[in-house]
Amino acid sequence: MGLQKEKIEIKSECKDKVRCTVEEFINDATKNIVPYVENAAKSGVRGEALNRVVNAAIKLIEDNAKKMVVNDEDVKKYGTVAMRHVYEEFKDSPAVVEDLRKGVFNKWKTIEVTQVINAALKPELEPYVKKLADVLIDAYRRGGLKEAAKAAEAYFRKVRYGKRRLVDYLFTEAPDSLQHESRAMQKFSRTALATCPGADVCAAQCYALHGNYVQLQVKRSLAIRDLFVSNLRIELLKRLNFDYARAAALLGAAFAGGVKAAGFGRMVRLHDSGDFNDIIYLAGWLTAAKLLPDKTFYTYTKTFPNVPGMPPVWQKAVEYYRELFNEPPPGNFTVNISATATNYKYLPGAAEALTGLGISVPGVFFYASANMDKYYEGRPERWRELAAALLEAAGKTTGRKLILEFEHGLGTGRSAKSSHHIVKLINVLTDYAEKSGTPLRISVPNTAYKAPSFKNEEEKKHMLTRLLTLPPERRDEALYDVEKMNVLNEIASELARKYGGETAQEGVWTKSFAAEGEKKVKVTLKRPVSVFTVPGIGEPVEVFVEPGGEKTCSLCQRCVVAPHSPLKNVTKITRDAFKGAGLTMMKELTAMAEAPQPAKTKKRQRRRKKAVAA
Ligand code: SF4
Repeated sequence: MGLQKEKIEIKSECKDKVRCTVEEFINDATKNIVPYVENAAKSGVRGEALNRVVNAAIKLIEDNAKKMVVNDEDVKKYGTVAMRHVYEEFKDSPAVVEDLRKGVFNKWKTIEVTQVINAALKPELEPYVKKLADVLIDAYRRGGLKEAAKAAEAYFRKVRYGKRRLVDYLFTEAPDSLQHESRAMQKFSRTALATCPGADVCAAQCYALHGNYVQLQVKRSLAIRDLFVSNLRIELLKRLNFDYARAAALLGAAFAGGVKAAGFGRMVRLHDSGDFNDIIYLAGWLTAAKLLPDKTFYTYTKTFPNVPGMPPVWQKAVEYYRELFNEPPPGNFTVNISATATNYKYLPGAAEALTGLGISVPGVFFYASANMDKYYEGRPERWRELAAALLEAAGKTTGRKLILEFEHGLGTGRSAKSSHHIVKLINVLTDYAEKSGTPLRISVPNTAYKAPSFKNEEEKKHMLTRLLTLPPERRDEALYDVEKMNVLNEIASELARKYGGETAQEGVWTKSFAAEGEKKVKVTLKRPVSVFTVPGIGEPVEVFVEPGGEKTCSLCQRCVVAPHSPLKNVTKITRDAFKGAGLTMMKELTAMAEAPQPAKTKKRQRRRKKAVAA
């Protein structure tokens, strides 16, 4: 194909239409656009010429997507498993239905764009996949799984893909905002939505479809990871006569080798975008955790095992793992339950199912969408249902943690709305906890930072100059997100008014921000945390408010996510706790909270016993 100069003409039926249905959009991409790219790549078009084809095909898909009309029937037919359930439960809410439609739109646009990139990459990646499969199987025959992981590490250490090592595309460094120091954490992300059977309304505003993620380079990197892994999976299956457990084990050996060759610190963060949608893939990561006991793997999931129609990814992966090692899943593989305003009904069951499989689940992570008040419009009882489900689910996790995160990264207006929803949710949560006798320990940070990712060079220069003009002890203030801090203060004041007894700990991270070749600016980010206790019976559920942005972070104070506390310095401090309430009243409230309440307590205990017996 001589595609260097001439115009690229890709056949497309949607292109000539004013509107096209989801079905037409999918068919058009599958029948016309993707095969065009596939043929170009197969016939040896490479480099700039192939990039031109890919760009033209992506543009065509994006233009066609603008014409795609998604209706309710499409949500039922083309939505994810979770979207279909949410539709049935929330079809009385126009805001939910609208976001589900957007979610279907995003899902199919993402899938088709990914198919285009995959079609271009496949021939290029094929030799690497085959070679690694050879290496893994030879080493496995020679000396078992550990030998296979070692061989994979050696392979990844030396093999180059273009200008960089192949492993540098697959296992990259986690973003600065997630790490307390550089190279402490690596990540393995996947294409959002295309890999998320549990995506619901989150698909409408998924952070992985915004910001950095829209760049072709980022989409390409995600596609390389997904494609490499899915092709290696198929190659191993074929060579092992479809012995699923063995294929998972060797995929795990490849992951372990890759993680080691990448050479980052102890934390391995899976899926800052994407989810588990495949059994062998998940069993592969469980195996990698087994092979690398000194690393901590942590991730999130909405692929809940208890949702009807959900692929049995967790159940089967654990089955394979047990078949391979005759033991429960490794404790250094941890997964948080990812909660939304519309999947709450499944949370307690999900916590029960995952922990029942022997998976370590530190907690439940709730991301408050800016739209959640609209989702619940006319149905205020949903707030209470949400609060009950979050607490019940968190109580069933192995870590008994609940994290409430502000929406961030999609604009300050949305973030502000979301933070006010958290204020309301905490009120409902504490009210529910009091009435049900569930004890809580709520940590509210006093600071919130913007994530210092600069939009352009000018912004970066401006911020760095500003930081440089300040004395070192005041530099973090330049990064404060004042609006979020006001909301945090509102939450803390209200909790102090109700429960008092506030102490705080201070987490400190020191980070350097600098442009290449420019002077480095050291900033010490501090995170004092106010802690409030809601009395009740038994072990408390730990609730953390996480404002998003630069994570200093309150979560690590008690190692919610994983035991990787980055605290360099922990100092107990006490500050004036009684904002918003007179001291006498606070004393009374504290006394009430601390006083033994035999009659009520016994009644509750009896009720609880009955409930447990039932
Ligand atoms: S599950 Fe996560 S990655 Fe997937 S669509 Fe939802 S928010 Fe995005």
